[in-house]
Amino acid sequence: MKLLEERIISEGKALNGEVLKVDGFINHQVDAELMKEIGKDIAAHFSGRGITKIVTIESSGIAPALMTALEMDLPMIILKKAPSKVLNENLAHTVVTSYTKGTSYDLTLNRDFMSENDHVLIIDDFLANGEAATGALRLLRSVHATIAGISVLIEKSFQPGRSKIESQGIEVYSLARIARLDKDIVEFKA
Ligand code: 5GP
Repeated sequence: MKLLEERIISEGKALNGEVLKVDGFINHQVDAELMKEIGKDIAAHFSGRGITKIVTIESSGIAPALMTALEMDLPMIILKKAPSKVLNENLAHTVVTSYTKGTSYDLTLNRDFMSENDHVLIIDDFLANGEAATGALRLLRSVHATIAGISVLIEKSFQPGRSKIESQGIEVYSLARIARLDKDIVEFKA
């Protein structure tokens, strides 16, 4: 998506060969107009596929997921990283280990909002090693939902996320694919 690539070039900051900061329009301050265009693009790509729900992982996937949900006239479900303090026995639960950050976190889904009748599109901000996306897939499969695909705003194509997801038979649709990062350098995949 040209609009997103241009924004990454003008406002993104490559810290090193691994990390791209996009705090000014995705991760901290959110550009609502850009999210609206992203929602339209993702909705057009996945239209006519029988999708019943949009699923995202809190927190940076929420804005593009909501815009896509609005465009497709579907509900959006947030996979929560911290379980609700209010006792809820109907939670599906998995643990995601982030090798990049060296941490683990819980991912939970209230079964009231998902069933085997659901066909789901997952949306997140970044795809790097594919750990978050794989955790989301595990959780959705545990409640027998089927998966239409995964859409991310920014894929770091030099990391193994895409192949990890595709090897499970799931389509990955990325709006910007980065072939190489280095300090202050961003190169897109041709
Ligand atoms: P993965 O599980 O695919 O390794 O990483 C996915 C999550 O890590 C994303 O949802 C995002 O929050 C975070 N992440 C991974 N790489 C980057 C990056 O280069 N920049 C930013 N801002 N977040 C990243």
